[in-house]
Amino acid sequence: MKATSVEQQALLDLAAIDLEISRANRRIAEIRQASQRDEAQAKLSLASEKLLIARHVADELSSEIARLEQDLQLVDTRIAQDKSRLASSSNPRDITGIQHELASLEKRKSNLEELELELLVRREGNAAEVAAAVAARTEAQSELDEIDGQLEAAGVKAVSGLALLAQQREKYVALISAEQHELYNKLVGKTVPVARLEGFTCGACNLALSGATVDEIRSTAKDELARCPECAAMLVTIS
Ligand SMILES: [Zn+2]
Repeated sequence: MKATSVEQQALLDLAAIDLEISRANRRIAEIRQASQRDEAQAKLSLASEKLLIARHVADELSSEIARLEQDLQLVDTRIAQDKSRLASSSNPRDITGIQHELASLEKRKSNLEELELELLVRREGNAAEVAAAVAARTEAQSELDEIDGQLEAAGVKAVSGLALLAQQREKYVALISAEQHELYNKLVGKTVPVARLEGFTCGACNLALSGATVDEIRSTAKDELARCPECAAMLVTIS
């Protein structure tokens, strides 16, 4: 196939830029599935779960304390009633009965108060846990936001870099003939479509060619494109 030196250089440039484009595409794919984001997301999920559990415990403690306070109020009411009955009673048998009941009510009250104290201490500890979980969650969220921001910026940069490469690519395509472009497209995916002959080695498939083959390639007319007998790549011999 005929190719002027300008076309041969444009073909080499086209192959080089296609390599850069595929690197840029890989980079964009890497950015989109960054593992550091997965880690941050997992950390956030864990923190959210811990917070949910701590808040659930807080709710349970609050209702237990509320129930206990109701019980205490009932006991207090009964004690007040018994005390007033005691003050107005003159029957010794009644008095003994009321005193007996008062003693057991006082005992119940002290048990309830002890239990309440225990629950209040637990609630204090739980409040600290909730606060710590909220802080951990906030930190994990801001870490994730920061990573997302960085990834987005890197992605935007990579995508705009890719657009520039595509523009440049068009310039090289404009310099080659339709026939060369067609062959180039046919070779893409099978091999590096264009390369230089480096000594005895094909720059596309990196195979060492025989001396006779290299002589033949070197003796090809300057405006003619040689082909690698191994990988079929277009071989450029101009310097
Ligand atoms: Zn080759």
